[in-house]
Amino acid sequence: MSKWRNSTLADYIPDDKLEEIKDRVSIVEVISDYVSLKKLGKNYKGLCPFHSEKTPSFMVNEEKQIFHCFGCNTGGNVFNFLMKMDRLSFPEAARGLARRYGIDLSKIKISEADKRESLKREWLFELNELAASYYHNLLINENEGKEAREYLRQRGIGNDVIIDHRLGYAQNSWDGLLKFLLKKGVPLSRVSEVGLIIPKKAQGFYDRFRGRVIFPIINIHDKVIGFGGRVLDNSLPKYLNSPESSIYNKSNSLYGLKVAKDFIRSEDRVIVVEGYFDLLSLNQYNIKNVAATLGTSLTTGHIRILRRYTNNIITVFDADEAGKKAAARSLDVLLKHGTSPKIAVLPSGFDPDSFVRKVGEKGFKEIIAGSIPLIEFAINEVIKKHDISSVEGKVKIIEDVTPILSKIENKIERDIYIQRVSNRLDIKEDTIVSRLLKTKKPGGVLQEKGVQSMDEDIVEKLLLKLMLLNSEVVHRIQEEAIIEEFVNKQYKEIGLLLLEEFNRQGRIDLGRVINCLEDESSKSLISQLSIEKESIEDVPKILKDCINKIRMHKVDEEIKILDIKIKEADEKKDEVLQREFLISRQELKNKQINYRQAFSRHNDA
Ligand SMILES: [Zn+2]
Repeated sequence: MSKWRNSTLADYIPDDKLEEIKDRVSIVEVISDYVSLKKLGKNYKGLCPFHSEKTPSFMVNEEKQIFHCFGCNTGGNVFNFLMKMDRLSFPEAARGLARRYGIDLSKIKISEADKRESLKREWLFELNELAASYYHNLLINENEGKEAREYLRQRGIGNDVIIDHRLGYAQNSWDGLLKFLLKKGVPLSRVSEVGLIIPKKAQGFYDRFRGRVIFPIINIHDKVIGFGGRVLDNSLPKYLNSPESSIYNKSNSLYGLKVAKDFIRSEDRVIVVEGYFDLLSLNQYNIKNVAATLGTSLTTGHIRILRRYTNNIITVFDADEAGKKAAARSLDVLLKHGTSPKIAVLPSGFDPDSFVRKVGEKGFKEIIAGSIPLIEFAINEVIKKHDISSVEGKVKIIEDVTPILSKIENKIERDIYIQRVSNRLDIKEDTIVSRLLKTKKPGGVLQEKGVQSMDEDIVEKLLLKLMLLNSEVVHRIQEEAIIEEFVNKQYKEIGLLLLEEFNRQGRIDLGRVINCLEDESSKSLISQLSIEKESIEDVPKILKDCINKIRMHKVDEEIKILDIKIKEADEKKDEVLQREFLISRQELKNKQINYRQAFSRHNDA
């Protein structure tokens, strides 16, 4: 298992140094620089710096060296805190802490492979930079760029925006850039790696972008990672983009962020649009906290980047069916990350570009001010689809609305929406709540019901929680080898990691475990489970019930499979096989009864 794999650069800091940093750092001390913390029992509490709130739900635990916010579900160790707070990479956060706590990181060896990879990337960035300057110069200074300048003028894009975004022009020839690069002595085979030129069938190369306005895609570190290009007329393809390369990954890149990031931070919100011209036109109208996803719907990678600057994400869609579908797709991704996303809906037939040009800055800002939570939008869409006055309609609405409600992590927020839906439908809140309980929804479950009636998913999560609370439990869980039987892959990965960590050093170092996990939601799950206050009274009994429940579920599944096999054997008239299966089935049935009785025995006690 590779440790500290948050970033490849993290390998530059050896494990023993990271251990030293971790041992020396006090998470309460570090976070206190940003958040005013008050001691409350074992934890410290304060107002979350990652979302706006009036009552504190942000907790820090000194002993475990972790933090977790129960409002927005952000959590992790001290490295994750600094990475989010100061928008740092993992090594940057580690280096900062090392400096602060006087740990010398100067004599660190870099592997040859890392060095080569890093040099290669630098080289590709430089190449893109060279190409961007070439295109930009053609657009603003040269005769060849005249038609493109006229085109941009017609679309209302002024000089400031052209300069800010370093727009360019690729002349309509097969070897414009090619000749330029040859003159500079650039090795062409490597240029084709970032897709600026394309190898011909026989030999030689030709330019990818011809007769197009060029949009360099620039990352937050001011490096050109790729390009987009648009034709000046209506010929096809209208848009052309760089292929993905070792420095350009579409689902992790946002257009315009370099220009937008300071505005996003100062206004504490970002407007997400789809296309180049949507963003450029908004900039032209002085709306600058904008990022564009370049045709794809919002991805986890996009959100991760945006959340460095703000938690307030507003996506803009048009009111037609395609726009609504895109909004629905974003819902899952956005809610998974605990952001409170909003949606601004444009009148049908408009995109942000055409709309801002029609109504201007003020009119567009009104649309943004009127944006509604994506959840509300999704619920409204469901209600619109069915007949709210009929019983059947109401039943369908509840069926469709429950999965949406179940995605809301924040309990208060969830309750508010439940109340609203119940008012709109004129039915009892309980009806919706009980429906919700049937869908998988963890949290506070122990108080609500016993282990026997819980979903497998929740039981597995509860076992993880027990492992984090109590090292005796870890021994038992290891003996029973129950983690291997987990159905939920994420929980299984975490469980196995906890066991591995426990075996390595006889205790679970949460900081290390969190660093070993790549997935944000896994990190947040660990910090949540280990900080959240839920007293588990009879640990041995709960543990036994959980193990029992998982085994019972497995037996249930095995019986189902056997039933199918028995039927098949029956159809084939294979009596010998059928009898064999029936005997196994009886054995399983006996097991099942034993498990059931095990529950009722200590439940009666
Ligand atoms: Zn928060």
